Amino acid sequence: MLNIPHSYTGNGFTNVDFDKQGRQLGFVSIPHSPNGDAWGVTQVPIAVIANGEGPTVVIEGGNHGDEYEGPITIGELARDLDPATIQGRLILMPANNVHAVMAATRTSPVDGLNFNRIWPGNAMGSITEQIAAYVTHRIFPMADAFLDLHSGGSSLDILPSAIIEPTNDVELHRRNVAAVEAFDAPYTVVIANMGDQRTATATACAAGLITVGTEMRGRGTVSLDALEICRRGVRNVLAHLGVMEGTPPRDAGADRQILELSGAAAYVYAPTDGVFEPFHQLGERVSAGQPAGRVRRIWDLTAEPVTVHYGIDGIVYGQRHPGRVSLGNCCVVVASPYGRVAP
Ligand SMILES: [Zn+2]
Repeated sequence: MLNIPHSYTGNGFTNVDFDKQGRQLGFVSIPHSPNGDAWGVTQVPIAVIANGEGPTVVIEGGNHGDEYEGPITIGELARDLDPATIQGRLILMPANNVHAVMAATRTSPVDGLNFNRIWPGNAMGSITEQIAAYVTHRIFPMADAFLDLHSGGSSLDILPSAIIEPTNDVELHRRNVAAVEAFDAPYTVVIANMGDQRTATATACAAGLITVGTEMRGRGTVSLDALEICRRGVRNVLAHLGVMEGTPPRDAGADRQILELSGAAAYVYAPTDGVFEPFHQLGERVSAGQPAGRVRRIWDLTAEPVTVHYGIDGIVYGQRHPGRVSLGNCCVVVASPYGRVAP
């Protein structure tokens, strides 16, 4: 743990003063010299709201550019929150993968990278890697906690949930579970991304930060229910961390079952190109071996539909949104009871 160097070696700079009290709205600027702009910058929006003494909480949105509940929630906090109502410091970054956010795409149109598969970033790398490096080495060392607000994006519809990033640090795990449960989302899920450590939340855990993730529906649109869950959940976590007044509804989560995406068995992939016909709705209980749906090559009458099956018992947690699938696309995600007992 704590294996993240606390020194930033890149050329990014900002017009906000992290040590100043009150509200500031500005940008982190990363020198960026594409065709048509000799000495320009990529501008990543940032707000700092600080008052008195207290923890520093970093809230990220727009890690993927087609997920909207988080950025909207962060934007509201940045503009509307009265600094006098907090104790501590909020560093609000609603659109970190800013080129993808402006293009409404999952990955960056500038370098083609998935912002959540390049952490801890590289100050000497491409623009997406440089933004991550700035957050890792300039922002995280100031922070006590990190919230990374995702939704399902254009390709998935996901049950609104607060996410626990697994960590081998037992004490950090305990604090993460407490913060994620304070969010009080309808579902609480451990997501390990099949062990991938190149994510923002894995990096935050490695830096020793209390870490909370979300998945707030998706389908590339703004969901009314998920937006309200996100607004309330972020404030619940800030209250839990002592930054805001208020008491998170701890009792609501007391008997909550924690779910997890348990490795490859949790995912149903398209075995061929076609159109995916699901057999179940989100939230339905399913079991290993049960047919999950069919992939139909609707343009070829001689091709039999191919049935796909669930790999594990659980509930349908995420589902492919566009009907059209290609070989290897994720069609369904099943969440099952968390194998480890939470401390
Ligand atoms: Zn995402």
